[in-house]
Amino acid sequence: MIHKTLNDREPVPNLTDYATMQASFSWDAARAECAGLSDGGLNIAFEAVDRWVAAGRGEAIALRWLGKNGERRDFSYAELARLSDRFANGLQRLGINPGDRVCILAGRIPELYITALGTLKAGAVFCPLFSAFGPEPVRVRLVKSRARVLVTTTLLYRRKVREQRSDLPHLEQVLLTDSDSDEPGIRSFHTLLEAETDHRPPPRTQPEDWALLHFTSGTTGTPKGAIHVHQAVIAHRLTGCWVLDLRPGDIYWCTADPGWVTGVSYGIIAPLANGATLVVDEAEFDARRWYAILDRERVNVWYTAPTAIRMLMKVGAEALHGHDLGALRFMASVGEPLNPEAVTWGLATLGRPFHDTWWQTETGAIMIANYRAVDIWPGSMGQPLPGIEAAIVQRRSGGVDRLPPGEEGELALRMGWPSMFRGYLEDEERYRQCFAGGWYLSGDLATCDANGYFWFVGRNDDVIKTSGHLIGPFEVENVLMEHPAVAEAGMIGKPDEFAGEIVKAFVALKTGYEPGDALRKELLGFARTRLGPAVAPRELEFVADLPKTRSGKIMRRLLRARELGLPLGDVSTLEGEHLKDSDA
Ligand code: ATP
Ligand code: MG
Repeated sequence: MIHKTLNDREPVPNLTDYATMQASFSWDAARAECAGLSDGGLNIAFEAVDRWVAAGRGEAIALRWLGKNGERRDFSYAELARLSDRFANGLQRLGINPGDRVCILAGRIPELYITALGTLKAGAVFCPLFSAFGPEPVRVRLVKSRARVLVTTTLLYRRKVREQRSDLPHLEQVLLTDSDSDEPGIRSFHTLLEAETDHRPPPRTQPEDWALLHFTSGTTGTPKGAIHVHQAVIAHRLTGCWVLDLRPGDIYWCTADPGWVTGVSYGIIAPLANGATLVVDEAEFDARRWYAILDRERVNVWYTAPTAIRMLMKVGAEALHGHDLGALRFMASVGEPLNPEAVTWGLATLGRPFHDTWWQTETGAIMIANYRAVDIWPGSMGQPLPGIEAAIVQRRSGGVDRLPPGEEGELALRMGWPSMFRGYLEDEERYRQCFAGGWYLSGDLATCDANGYFWFVGRNDDVIKTSGHLIGPFEVENVLMEHPAVAEAGMIGKPDEFAGEIVKAFVALKTGYEPGDALRKELLGFARTRLGPAVAPRELEFVADLPKTRSGKIMRRLLRARELGLPLGDVSTLEGEHLKDSDA
């Protein structure tokens, strides 16, 4: 257990007394913390930028953009408010109505942030598409979302959209961020902005109006389009404050790309709604660059992902040499199970533990977390956000049964928090199947201990059934990760005549270790001593890398399909699948 000392509580955390807050919480009170619109309405972009301008903080820096070639540009809150107003005016001029979808296909460029905020102000629905997708996943999402407008770059347009334009009857306008010329169906983003005035009346959206459309990561199958409404911002603001401990003036860095839900909920909305300065790095992962950014920008709060942390661990502490991370107050992680090794590595190497947080595209905001003022059990996802009731349940016809502490079951959340998704686009039935007896069922398996901490076991689809046991891949992977040679590990169940399934491990090694029979035996023995023969892997294969989604999640279903010679299924979000396009 990592005990939080008084020192860790300087400056005073936003959430100091977890138990009291949990007992006294009300969503109405959380809503009252938002500025709101005069007619009882609510708008994400207004809460993110305009409220600060109205409060006299317009000159504070909202966005610090670091270009991949060393450029650096600051945007104040007032500037972001003004530019997003212009974009909203431009959308209106193009005939875009509330509820229409506006997609963006771009890397982390300033125009992306202007598009997101302007779209939300116009009452249209913002739908980000990850820039490294190939033409087919782009087409599928443009068709599914019925996007009327796409904001993108000339290169991405030429490579991924132009040839399929005739298959996209809904797509009326393409706005290019780096071109000045207009031609039929294609306009210049900046010319459009320049033609508009700064003046725009406040947004008119209501709390239940659609705001965001996010496609899931596709780790378990075909990605789903999850719909979120404007009042999600209540949860974004609250979790930014209580979980990420953000306060006005903080320098904050979320490393997730806005092509995924984390990069929007916590890469745009939550930090701005808390008055922080957002650091945006256009470049891809690079350990030295990352440490340099944390140091030079004096980052106070850092939100990243297990894959990135494991890569930093793999590179070793040497890359950190000469950097001062003394400004860092809080570090958190999301997206995949965070191995206990990674939590303690953070403490030993960076001086702070990583705080695991759990949530999904569907939940819209952080639901379970480790908090700055609360002790950490490494390997645990932490405790539910005040206002969220989480439980471990088993489905039965017509409802669910709650399971006692320690028992493994599906992680469920009591329905009704503001950022809960309001549907899967064009898949009403699948949406309905996510709910039973007043609970949202997450599809993740977990346990809850007697202290109320939740522990991730695995996704429903990834659990291995061997000799009458159910084994979550995470616990086996964690043990292998403790071995000094292992950089990453992924487990699958492989059909076996006697056991039903046996556990097979796929292992990527750290720099400086070579695969071989001796090391394989050593690792299998290492796992057996710690886990016992029933749970330990029986087979182990070395791989250079584990297959991952573009959002950095290990795709165990793919390891399994490859192993068993099964069809690979939907690989549209597989990292490396469209490498030829990824330099765009
Ligand atoms: P798809 O639903 O298309 O298969 P996905 O579930 O990976 O994709 P996301 O919504 O991006 O799409 O990811 C949410 C999932 O990520 C969770 O359901 C969980 O399996 C995993 N996850 C997120 N955070 C954590 C965490 N802290 N610990 C363990 N797993 C996590
Ligand atoms: Mg999912």
